[in-house]
Amino acid sequence: MNKTIAVIEGDDAAPEAVRPVVALLDSLQLGLTWVYPEVGEAGEAKSGSTFPDSARAVIDAADTTLFGSTSGKSGAALGYLRWGKETFANLRPCRYLPGCASPLRNPEGIDFVIVRENLEDLYVGAEGPLTDLAALNLFGRTIRKPVHELGDGRYAIKAITREGTERVVSFAFDLAAKRDSKRKLTCATKHNMLRGTDGLFLSVAREIAADYPDIAFESFIVDDFACRMIREPERFDVVVMPNQYGDILSDAAGGLLGSLGLAASGCFGADYAYFEPAHGTAPDIAGRNVINPTATILSATMMLDYLGLETAAARIEGALARVYADGSALTPDQGGAATTTEFCAALARAL
Ligand code: ATP
Repeated sequence: MNKTIAVIEGDDAAPEAVRPVVALLDSLQLGLTWVYPEVGEAGEAKSGSTFPDSARAVIDAADTTLFGSTSGKSGAALGYLRWGKETFANLRPCRYLPGCASPLRNPEGIDFVIVRENLEDLYVGAEGPLTDLAALNLFGRTIRKPVHELGDGRYAIKAITREGTERVVSFAFDLAAKRDSKRKLTCATKHNMLRGTDGLFLSVAREIAADYPDIAFESFIVDDFACRMIREPERFDVVVMPNQYGDILSDAAGGLLGSLGLAASGCFGADYAYFEPAHGTAPDIAGRNVINPTATILSATMMLDYLGLETAAARIEGALARVYADGSALTPDQGGAATTTEFCAALARAL
């Protein structure tokens, strides 16, 4: 099998995690070809654009993309991978690895996935001055002031569509069936306050639940869910949410494992997927060779699954579990003293 992977190393500390992970995967001789679209500063230096057409062509021709994390200049490429490729479902797993620095007393049994809607909600990116809305004569519910009396300020549009919700919720149900674990889907929304938007998300989820009679369905108001996620995380399996809640709560879920350094992510569309750690570029630790590459590794194993290389993915995850159980080569965010290089060397030995 020959698969081509476009690699965008990203900014700040992200390349320090991506490079050793690519080297590790390459050493397994899985028939992977790595290509490097010139985006961000490299693209700008060569062609004057942070996302030139040539880079886009490399991404289009590849089977998938592995992305580090961006703080700026490679952002246009990320926008293309997300909105251009319509990768509507962002999977963010949260699974306890014995030996990781969870702040919880009993973290055993934590194994759930947040499926975050990836294209809509408050991230459609339509913001502007409130005065633009005055002519619409918008009134809130109950005793709130009409929008044209709110004063000087700005608005952001929260867009939830039926089609966008149907596809992400169906994806989440299919995932719960495929995982065959607790066979449960949880939906978290703020439908009590946002009846039109989050209310639509929940009602579409309830409709689709009827098509999956063997998957249990439950829903919580998102703030209640946040509390339950900390108090009893082991009871969840697959959790589906609108974009912004998923963004925030999946980082919080990373905290259950002691660090964002364990937070992997994959973004799936109808005919493309890309993989990136859920964390940012960790600028505060850039250049120190201490970034925890686990999130990048687990994103890469999701990528191998997507490419049909499940055996290799399981092998890497098994080795990773042994490195955590052993505990002697963990990075500082996990309470260890190892460098990224030492962590990856331990993983290579465990493999
Ligand atoms: P963004 O807005 O892109 O999510 P951010 O600056 O809010 O970025 P991160 O870059 O994720 O957030 O960093 C938050 C904190 O977590 C920082 O202190 C960073 O060093 C730490 N961190 C993030 N990822 C890792 C990692 N893989 N290993 C170790 N520490 C990490």
